[in-house]
Amino acid sequence: MDHFHYVDGVLHAEDTAISAIARAVGTPVYIYSAATLTRHARVFREALSILPSTHIAFAVKSNPNLAVLKLLAREGYGADVVSAGEMDRALAAGIPAEGVVFSGVGKTADELTRAVKAGIGQFNIESEEEGVELAAIAASLGLVAHAALRVNPDVDAGTHAKISTGMAENKFGVAYDRAAGIYARLSALPGIQMRGLAVHIGSQLSKLDPLEAAFAKMGELMRSIRAQGLSITHMDLGGGIGVPYKADEVFPSPAEYAAMVARVTADWGVTLMFEPGRVIAGNSGVLVTEVVRVKEGVTTPFVIVDAAMNDLARPALYGSWHDFLAVEPNGEKFTANIVGPICESSDTFAMGREIDVVKAGDLAVFRTAGAYGATMANTYNSRALVPEVMVNGDQWAVVANRIDPAAILAAEQVPDWLAD
Ligand SMILES: *Cc1c(COP(=O)(O)O)cnc(C)c1O
Repeated sequence: MDHFHYVDGVLHAEDTAISAIARAVGTPVYIYSAATLTRHARVFREALSILPSTHIAFAVKSNPNLAVLKLLAREGYGADVVSAGEMDRALAAGIPAEGVVFSGVGKTADELTRAVKAGIGQFNIESEEEGVELAAIAASLGLVAHAALRVNPDVDAGTHAKISTGMAENKFGVAYDRAAGIYARLSALPGIQMRGLAVHIGSQLSKLDPLEAAFAKMGELMRSIRAQGLSITHMDLGGGIGVPYKADEVFPSPAEYAAMVARVTADWGVTLMFEPGRVIAGNSGVLVTEVVRVKEGVTTPFVIVDAAMNDLARPALYGSWHDFLAVEPNGEKFTANIVGPICESSDTFAMGREIDVVKAGDLAVFRTAGAYGATMANTYNSRALVPEVMVNGDQWAVVANRIDPAAILAAEQVPDWLAD
């Protein structure tokens, strides 16, 4: 359920016409709906309320915009961060340090130091080496870091290979069979307090079975670690629930997910932690674009839009589908290829797709662009960094400025030996 809908033939975000924002801010531009974000955050939290003790940490990498984080902070969400930059954003949005989980395979010594000093709530350790380093850093500061060990359960998430993270050959977590030994050795170190296990098998999951299989394996591991006399008070079940990118797709609901978790974890006696990203942000945003021109093709016309793979990378990276809708459709359809202006063929949003008839100057949106959209944007082809807008009813505000190529050029310099 989202709040993007047609009113008198014009696509609106809540009570605001998308054409009005596009006129004022220009295109391409991301638009987020505050009501949709709030709704998704509440539906997810309420679904999990059947569980005795939970903490929800929004996966910041899916949408790190400060206003988005602020809204989720007000909904009681913590943050799952994967860099010091994301940690700084979460703290700047008012998320308490103890509500922050720090994940990622490549945390540097500098990042670990900063996060220990900031009092981050939980470090999800991805290797024994990292745990040893974290313990030494915290001990040298006279502090104790709370940590969970990320385990690779060797389960196929059944999603796109590039966003699968829980198979033995993936870089994430420690091998399942070695986890108990590593947990015991790290537990003996000063400077670190091991409090649990973490798992995250991938993103855009369409079925609950792989998650259930992974959680069941984590439960067995938890029991065998406790049997060694070690304590486990927290179990982090990660994120990964998928969202529909096409109107007719059906995905597990938060309620079905929560019921599965309740069944698997009934006797665990822990605080359960969750790291949802896409399921909160995905359908809360669209990317608005203007048609530059429609070019005749050999068999199919090309709709050339002013958004490109630098603004929305998912189709180029993963072959992903984003629905394309005219902001003011005239009711007719045609079959077209939708492409951006960037000089490589991967800058293609759709091939041979039946879409609303559009012509030069028309506005359109790519739907379901609120997660892994603006966060992956870059300036390839010396294009601007795309701006972001948040709508709240009939109010709206720019929540990230467009960064013009001139500003990026101004950050570069020619060395003396090349100067004229
Ligand atoms: C990316 C990521 C998430 C969020 O995944 P979604 O599919 O967006 O829910 C959660 N936890 C970790 C460790 C991640 O890397």
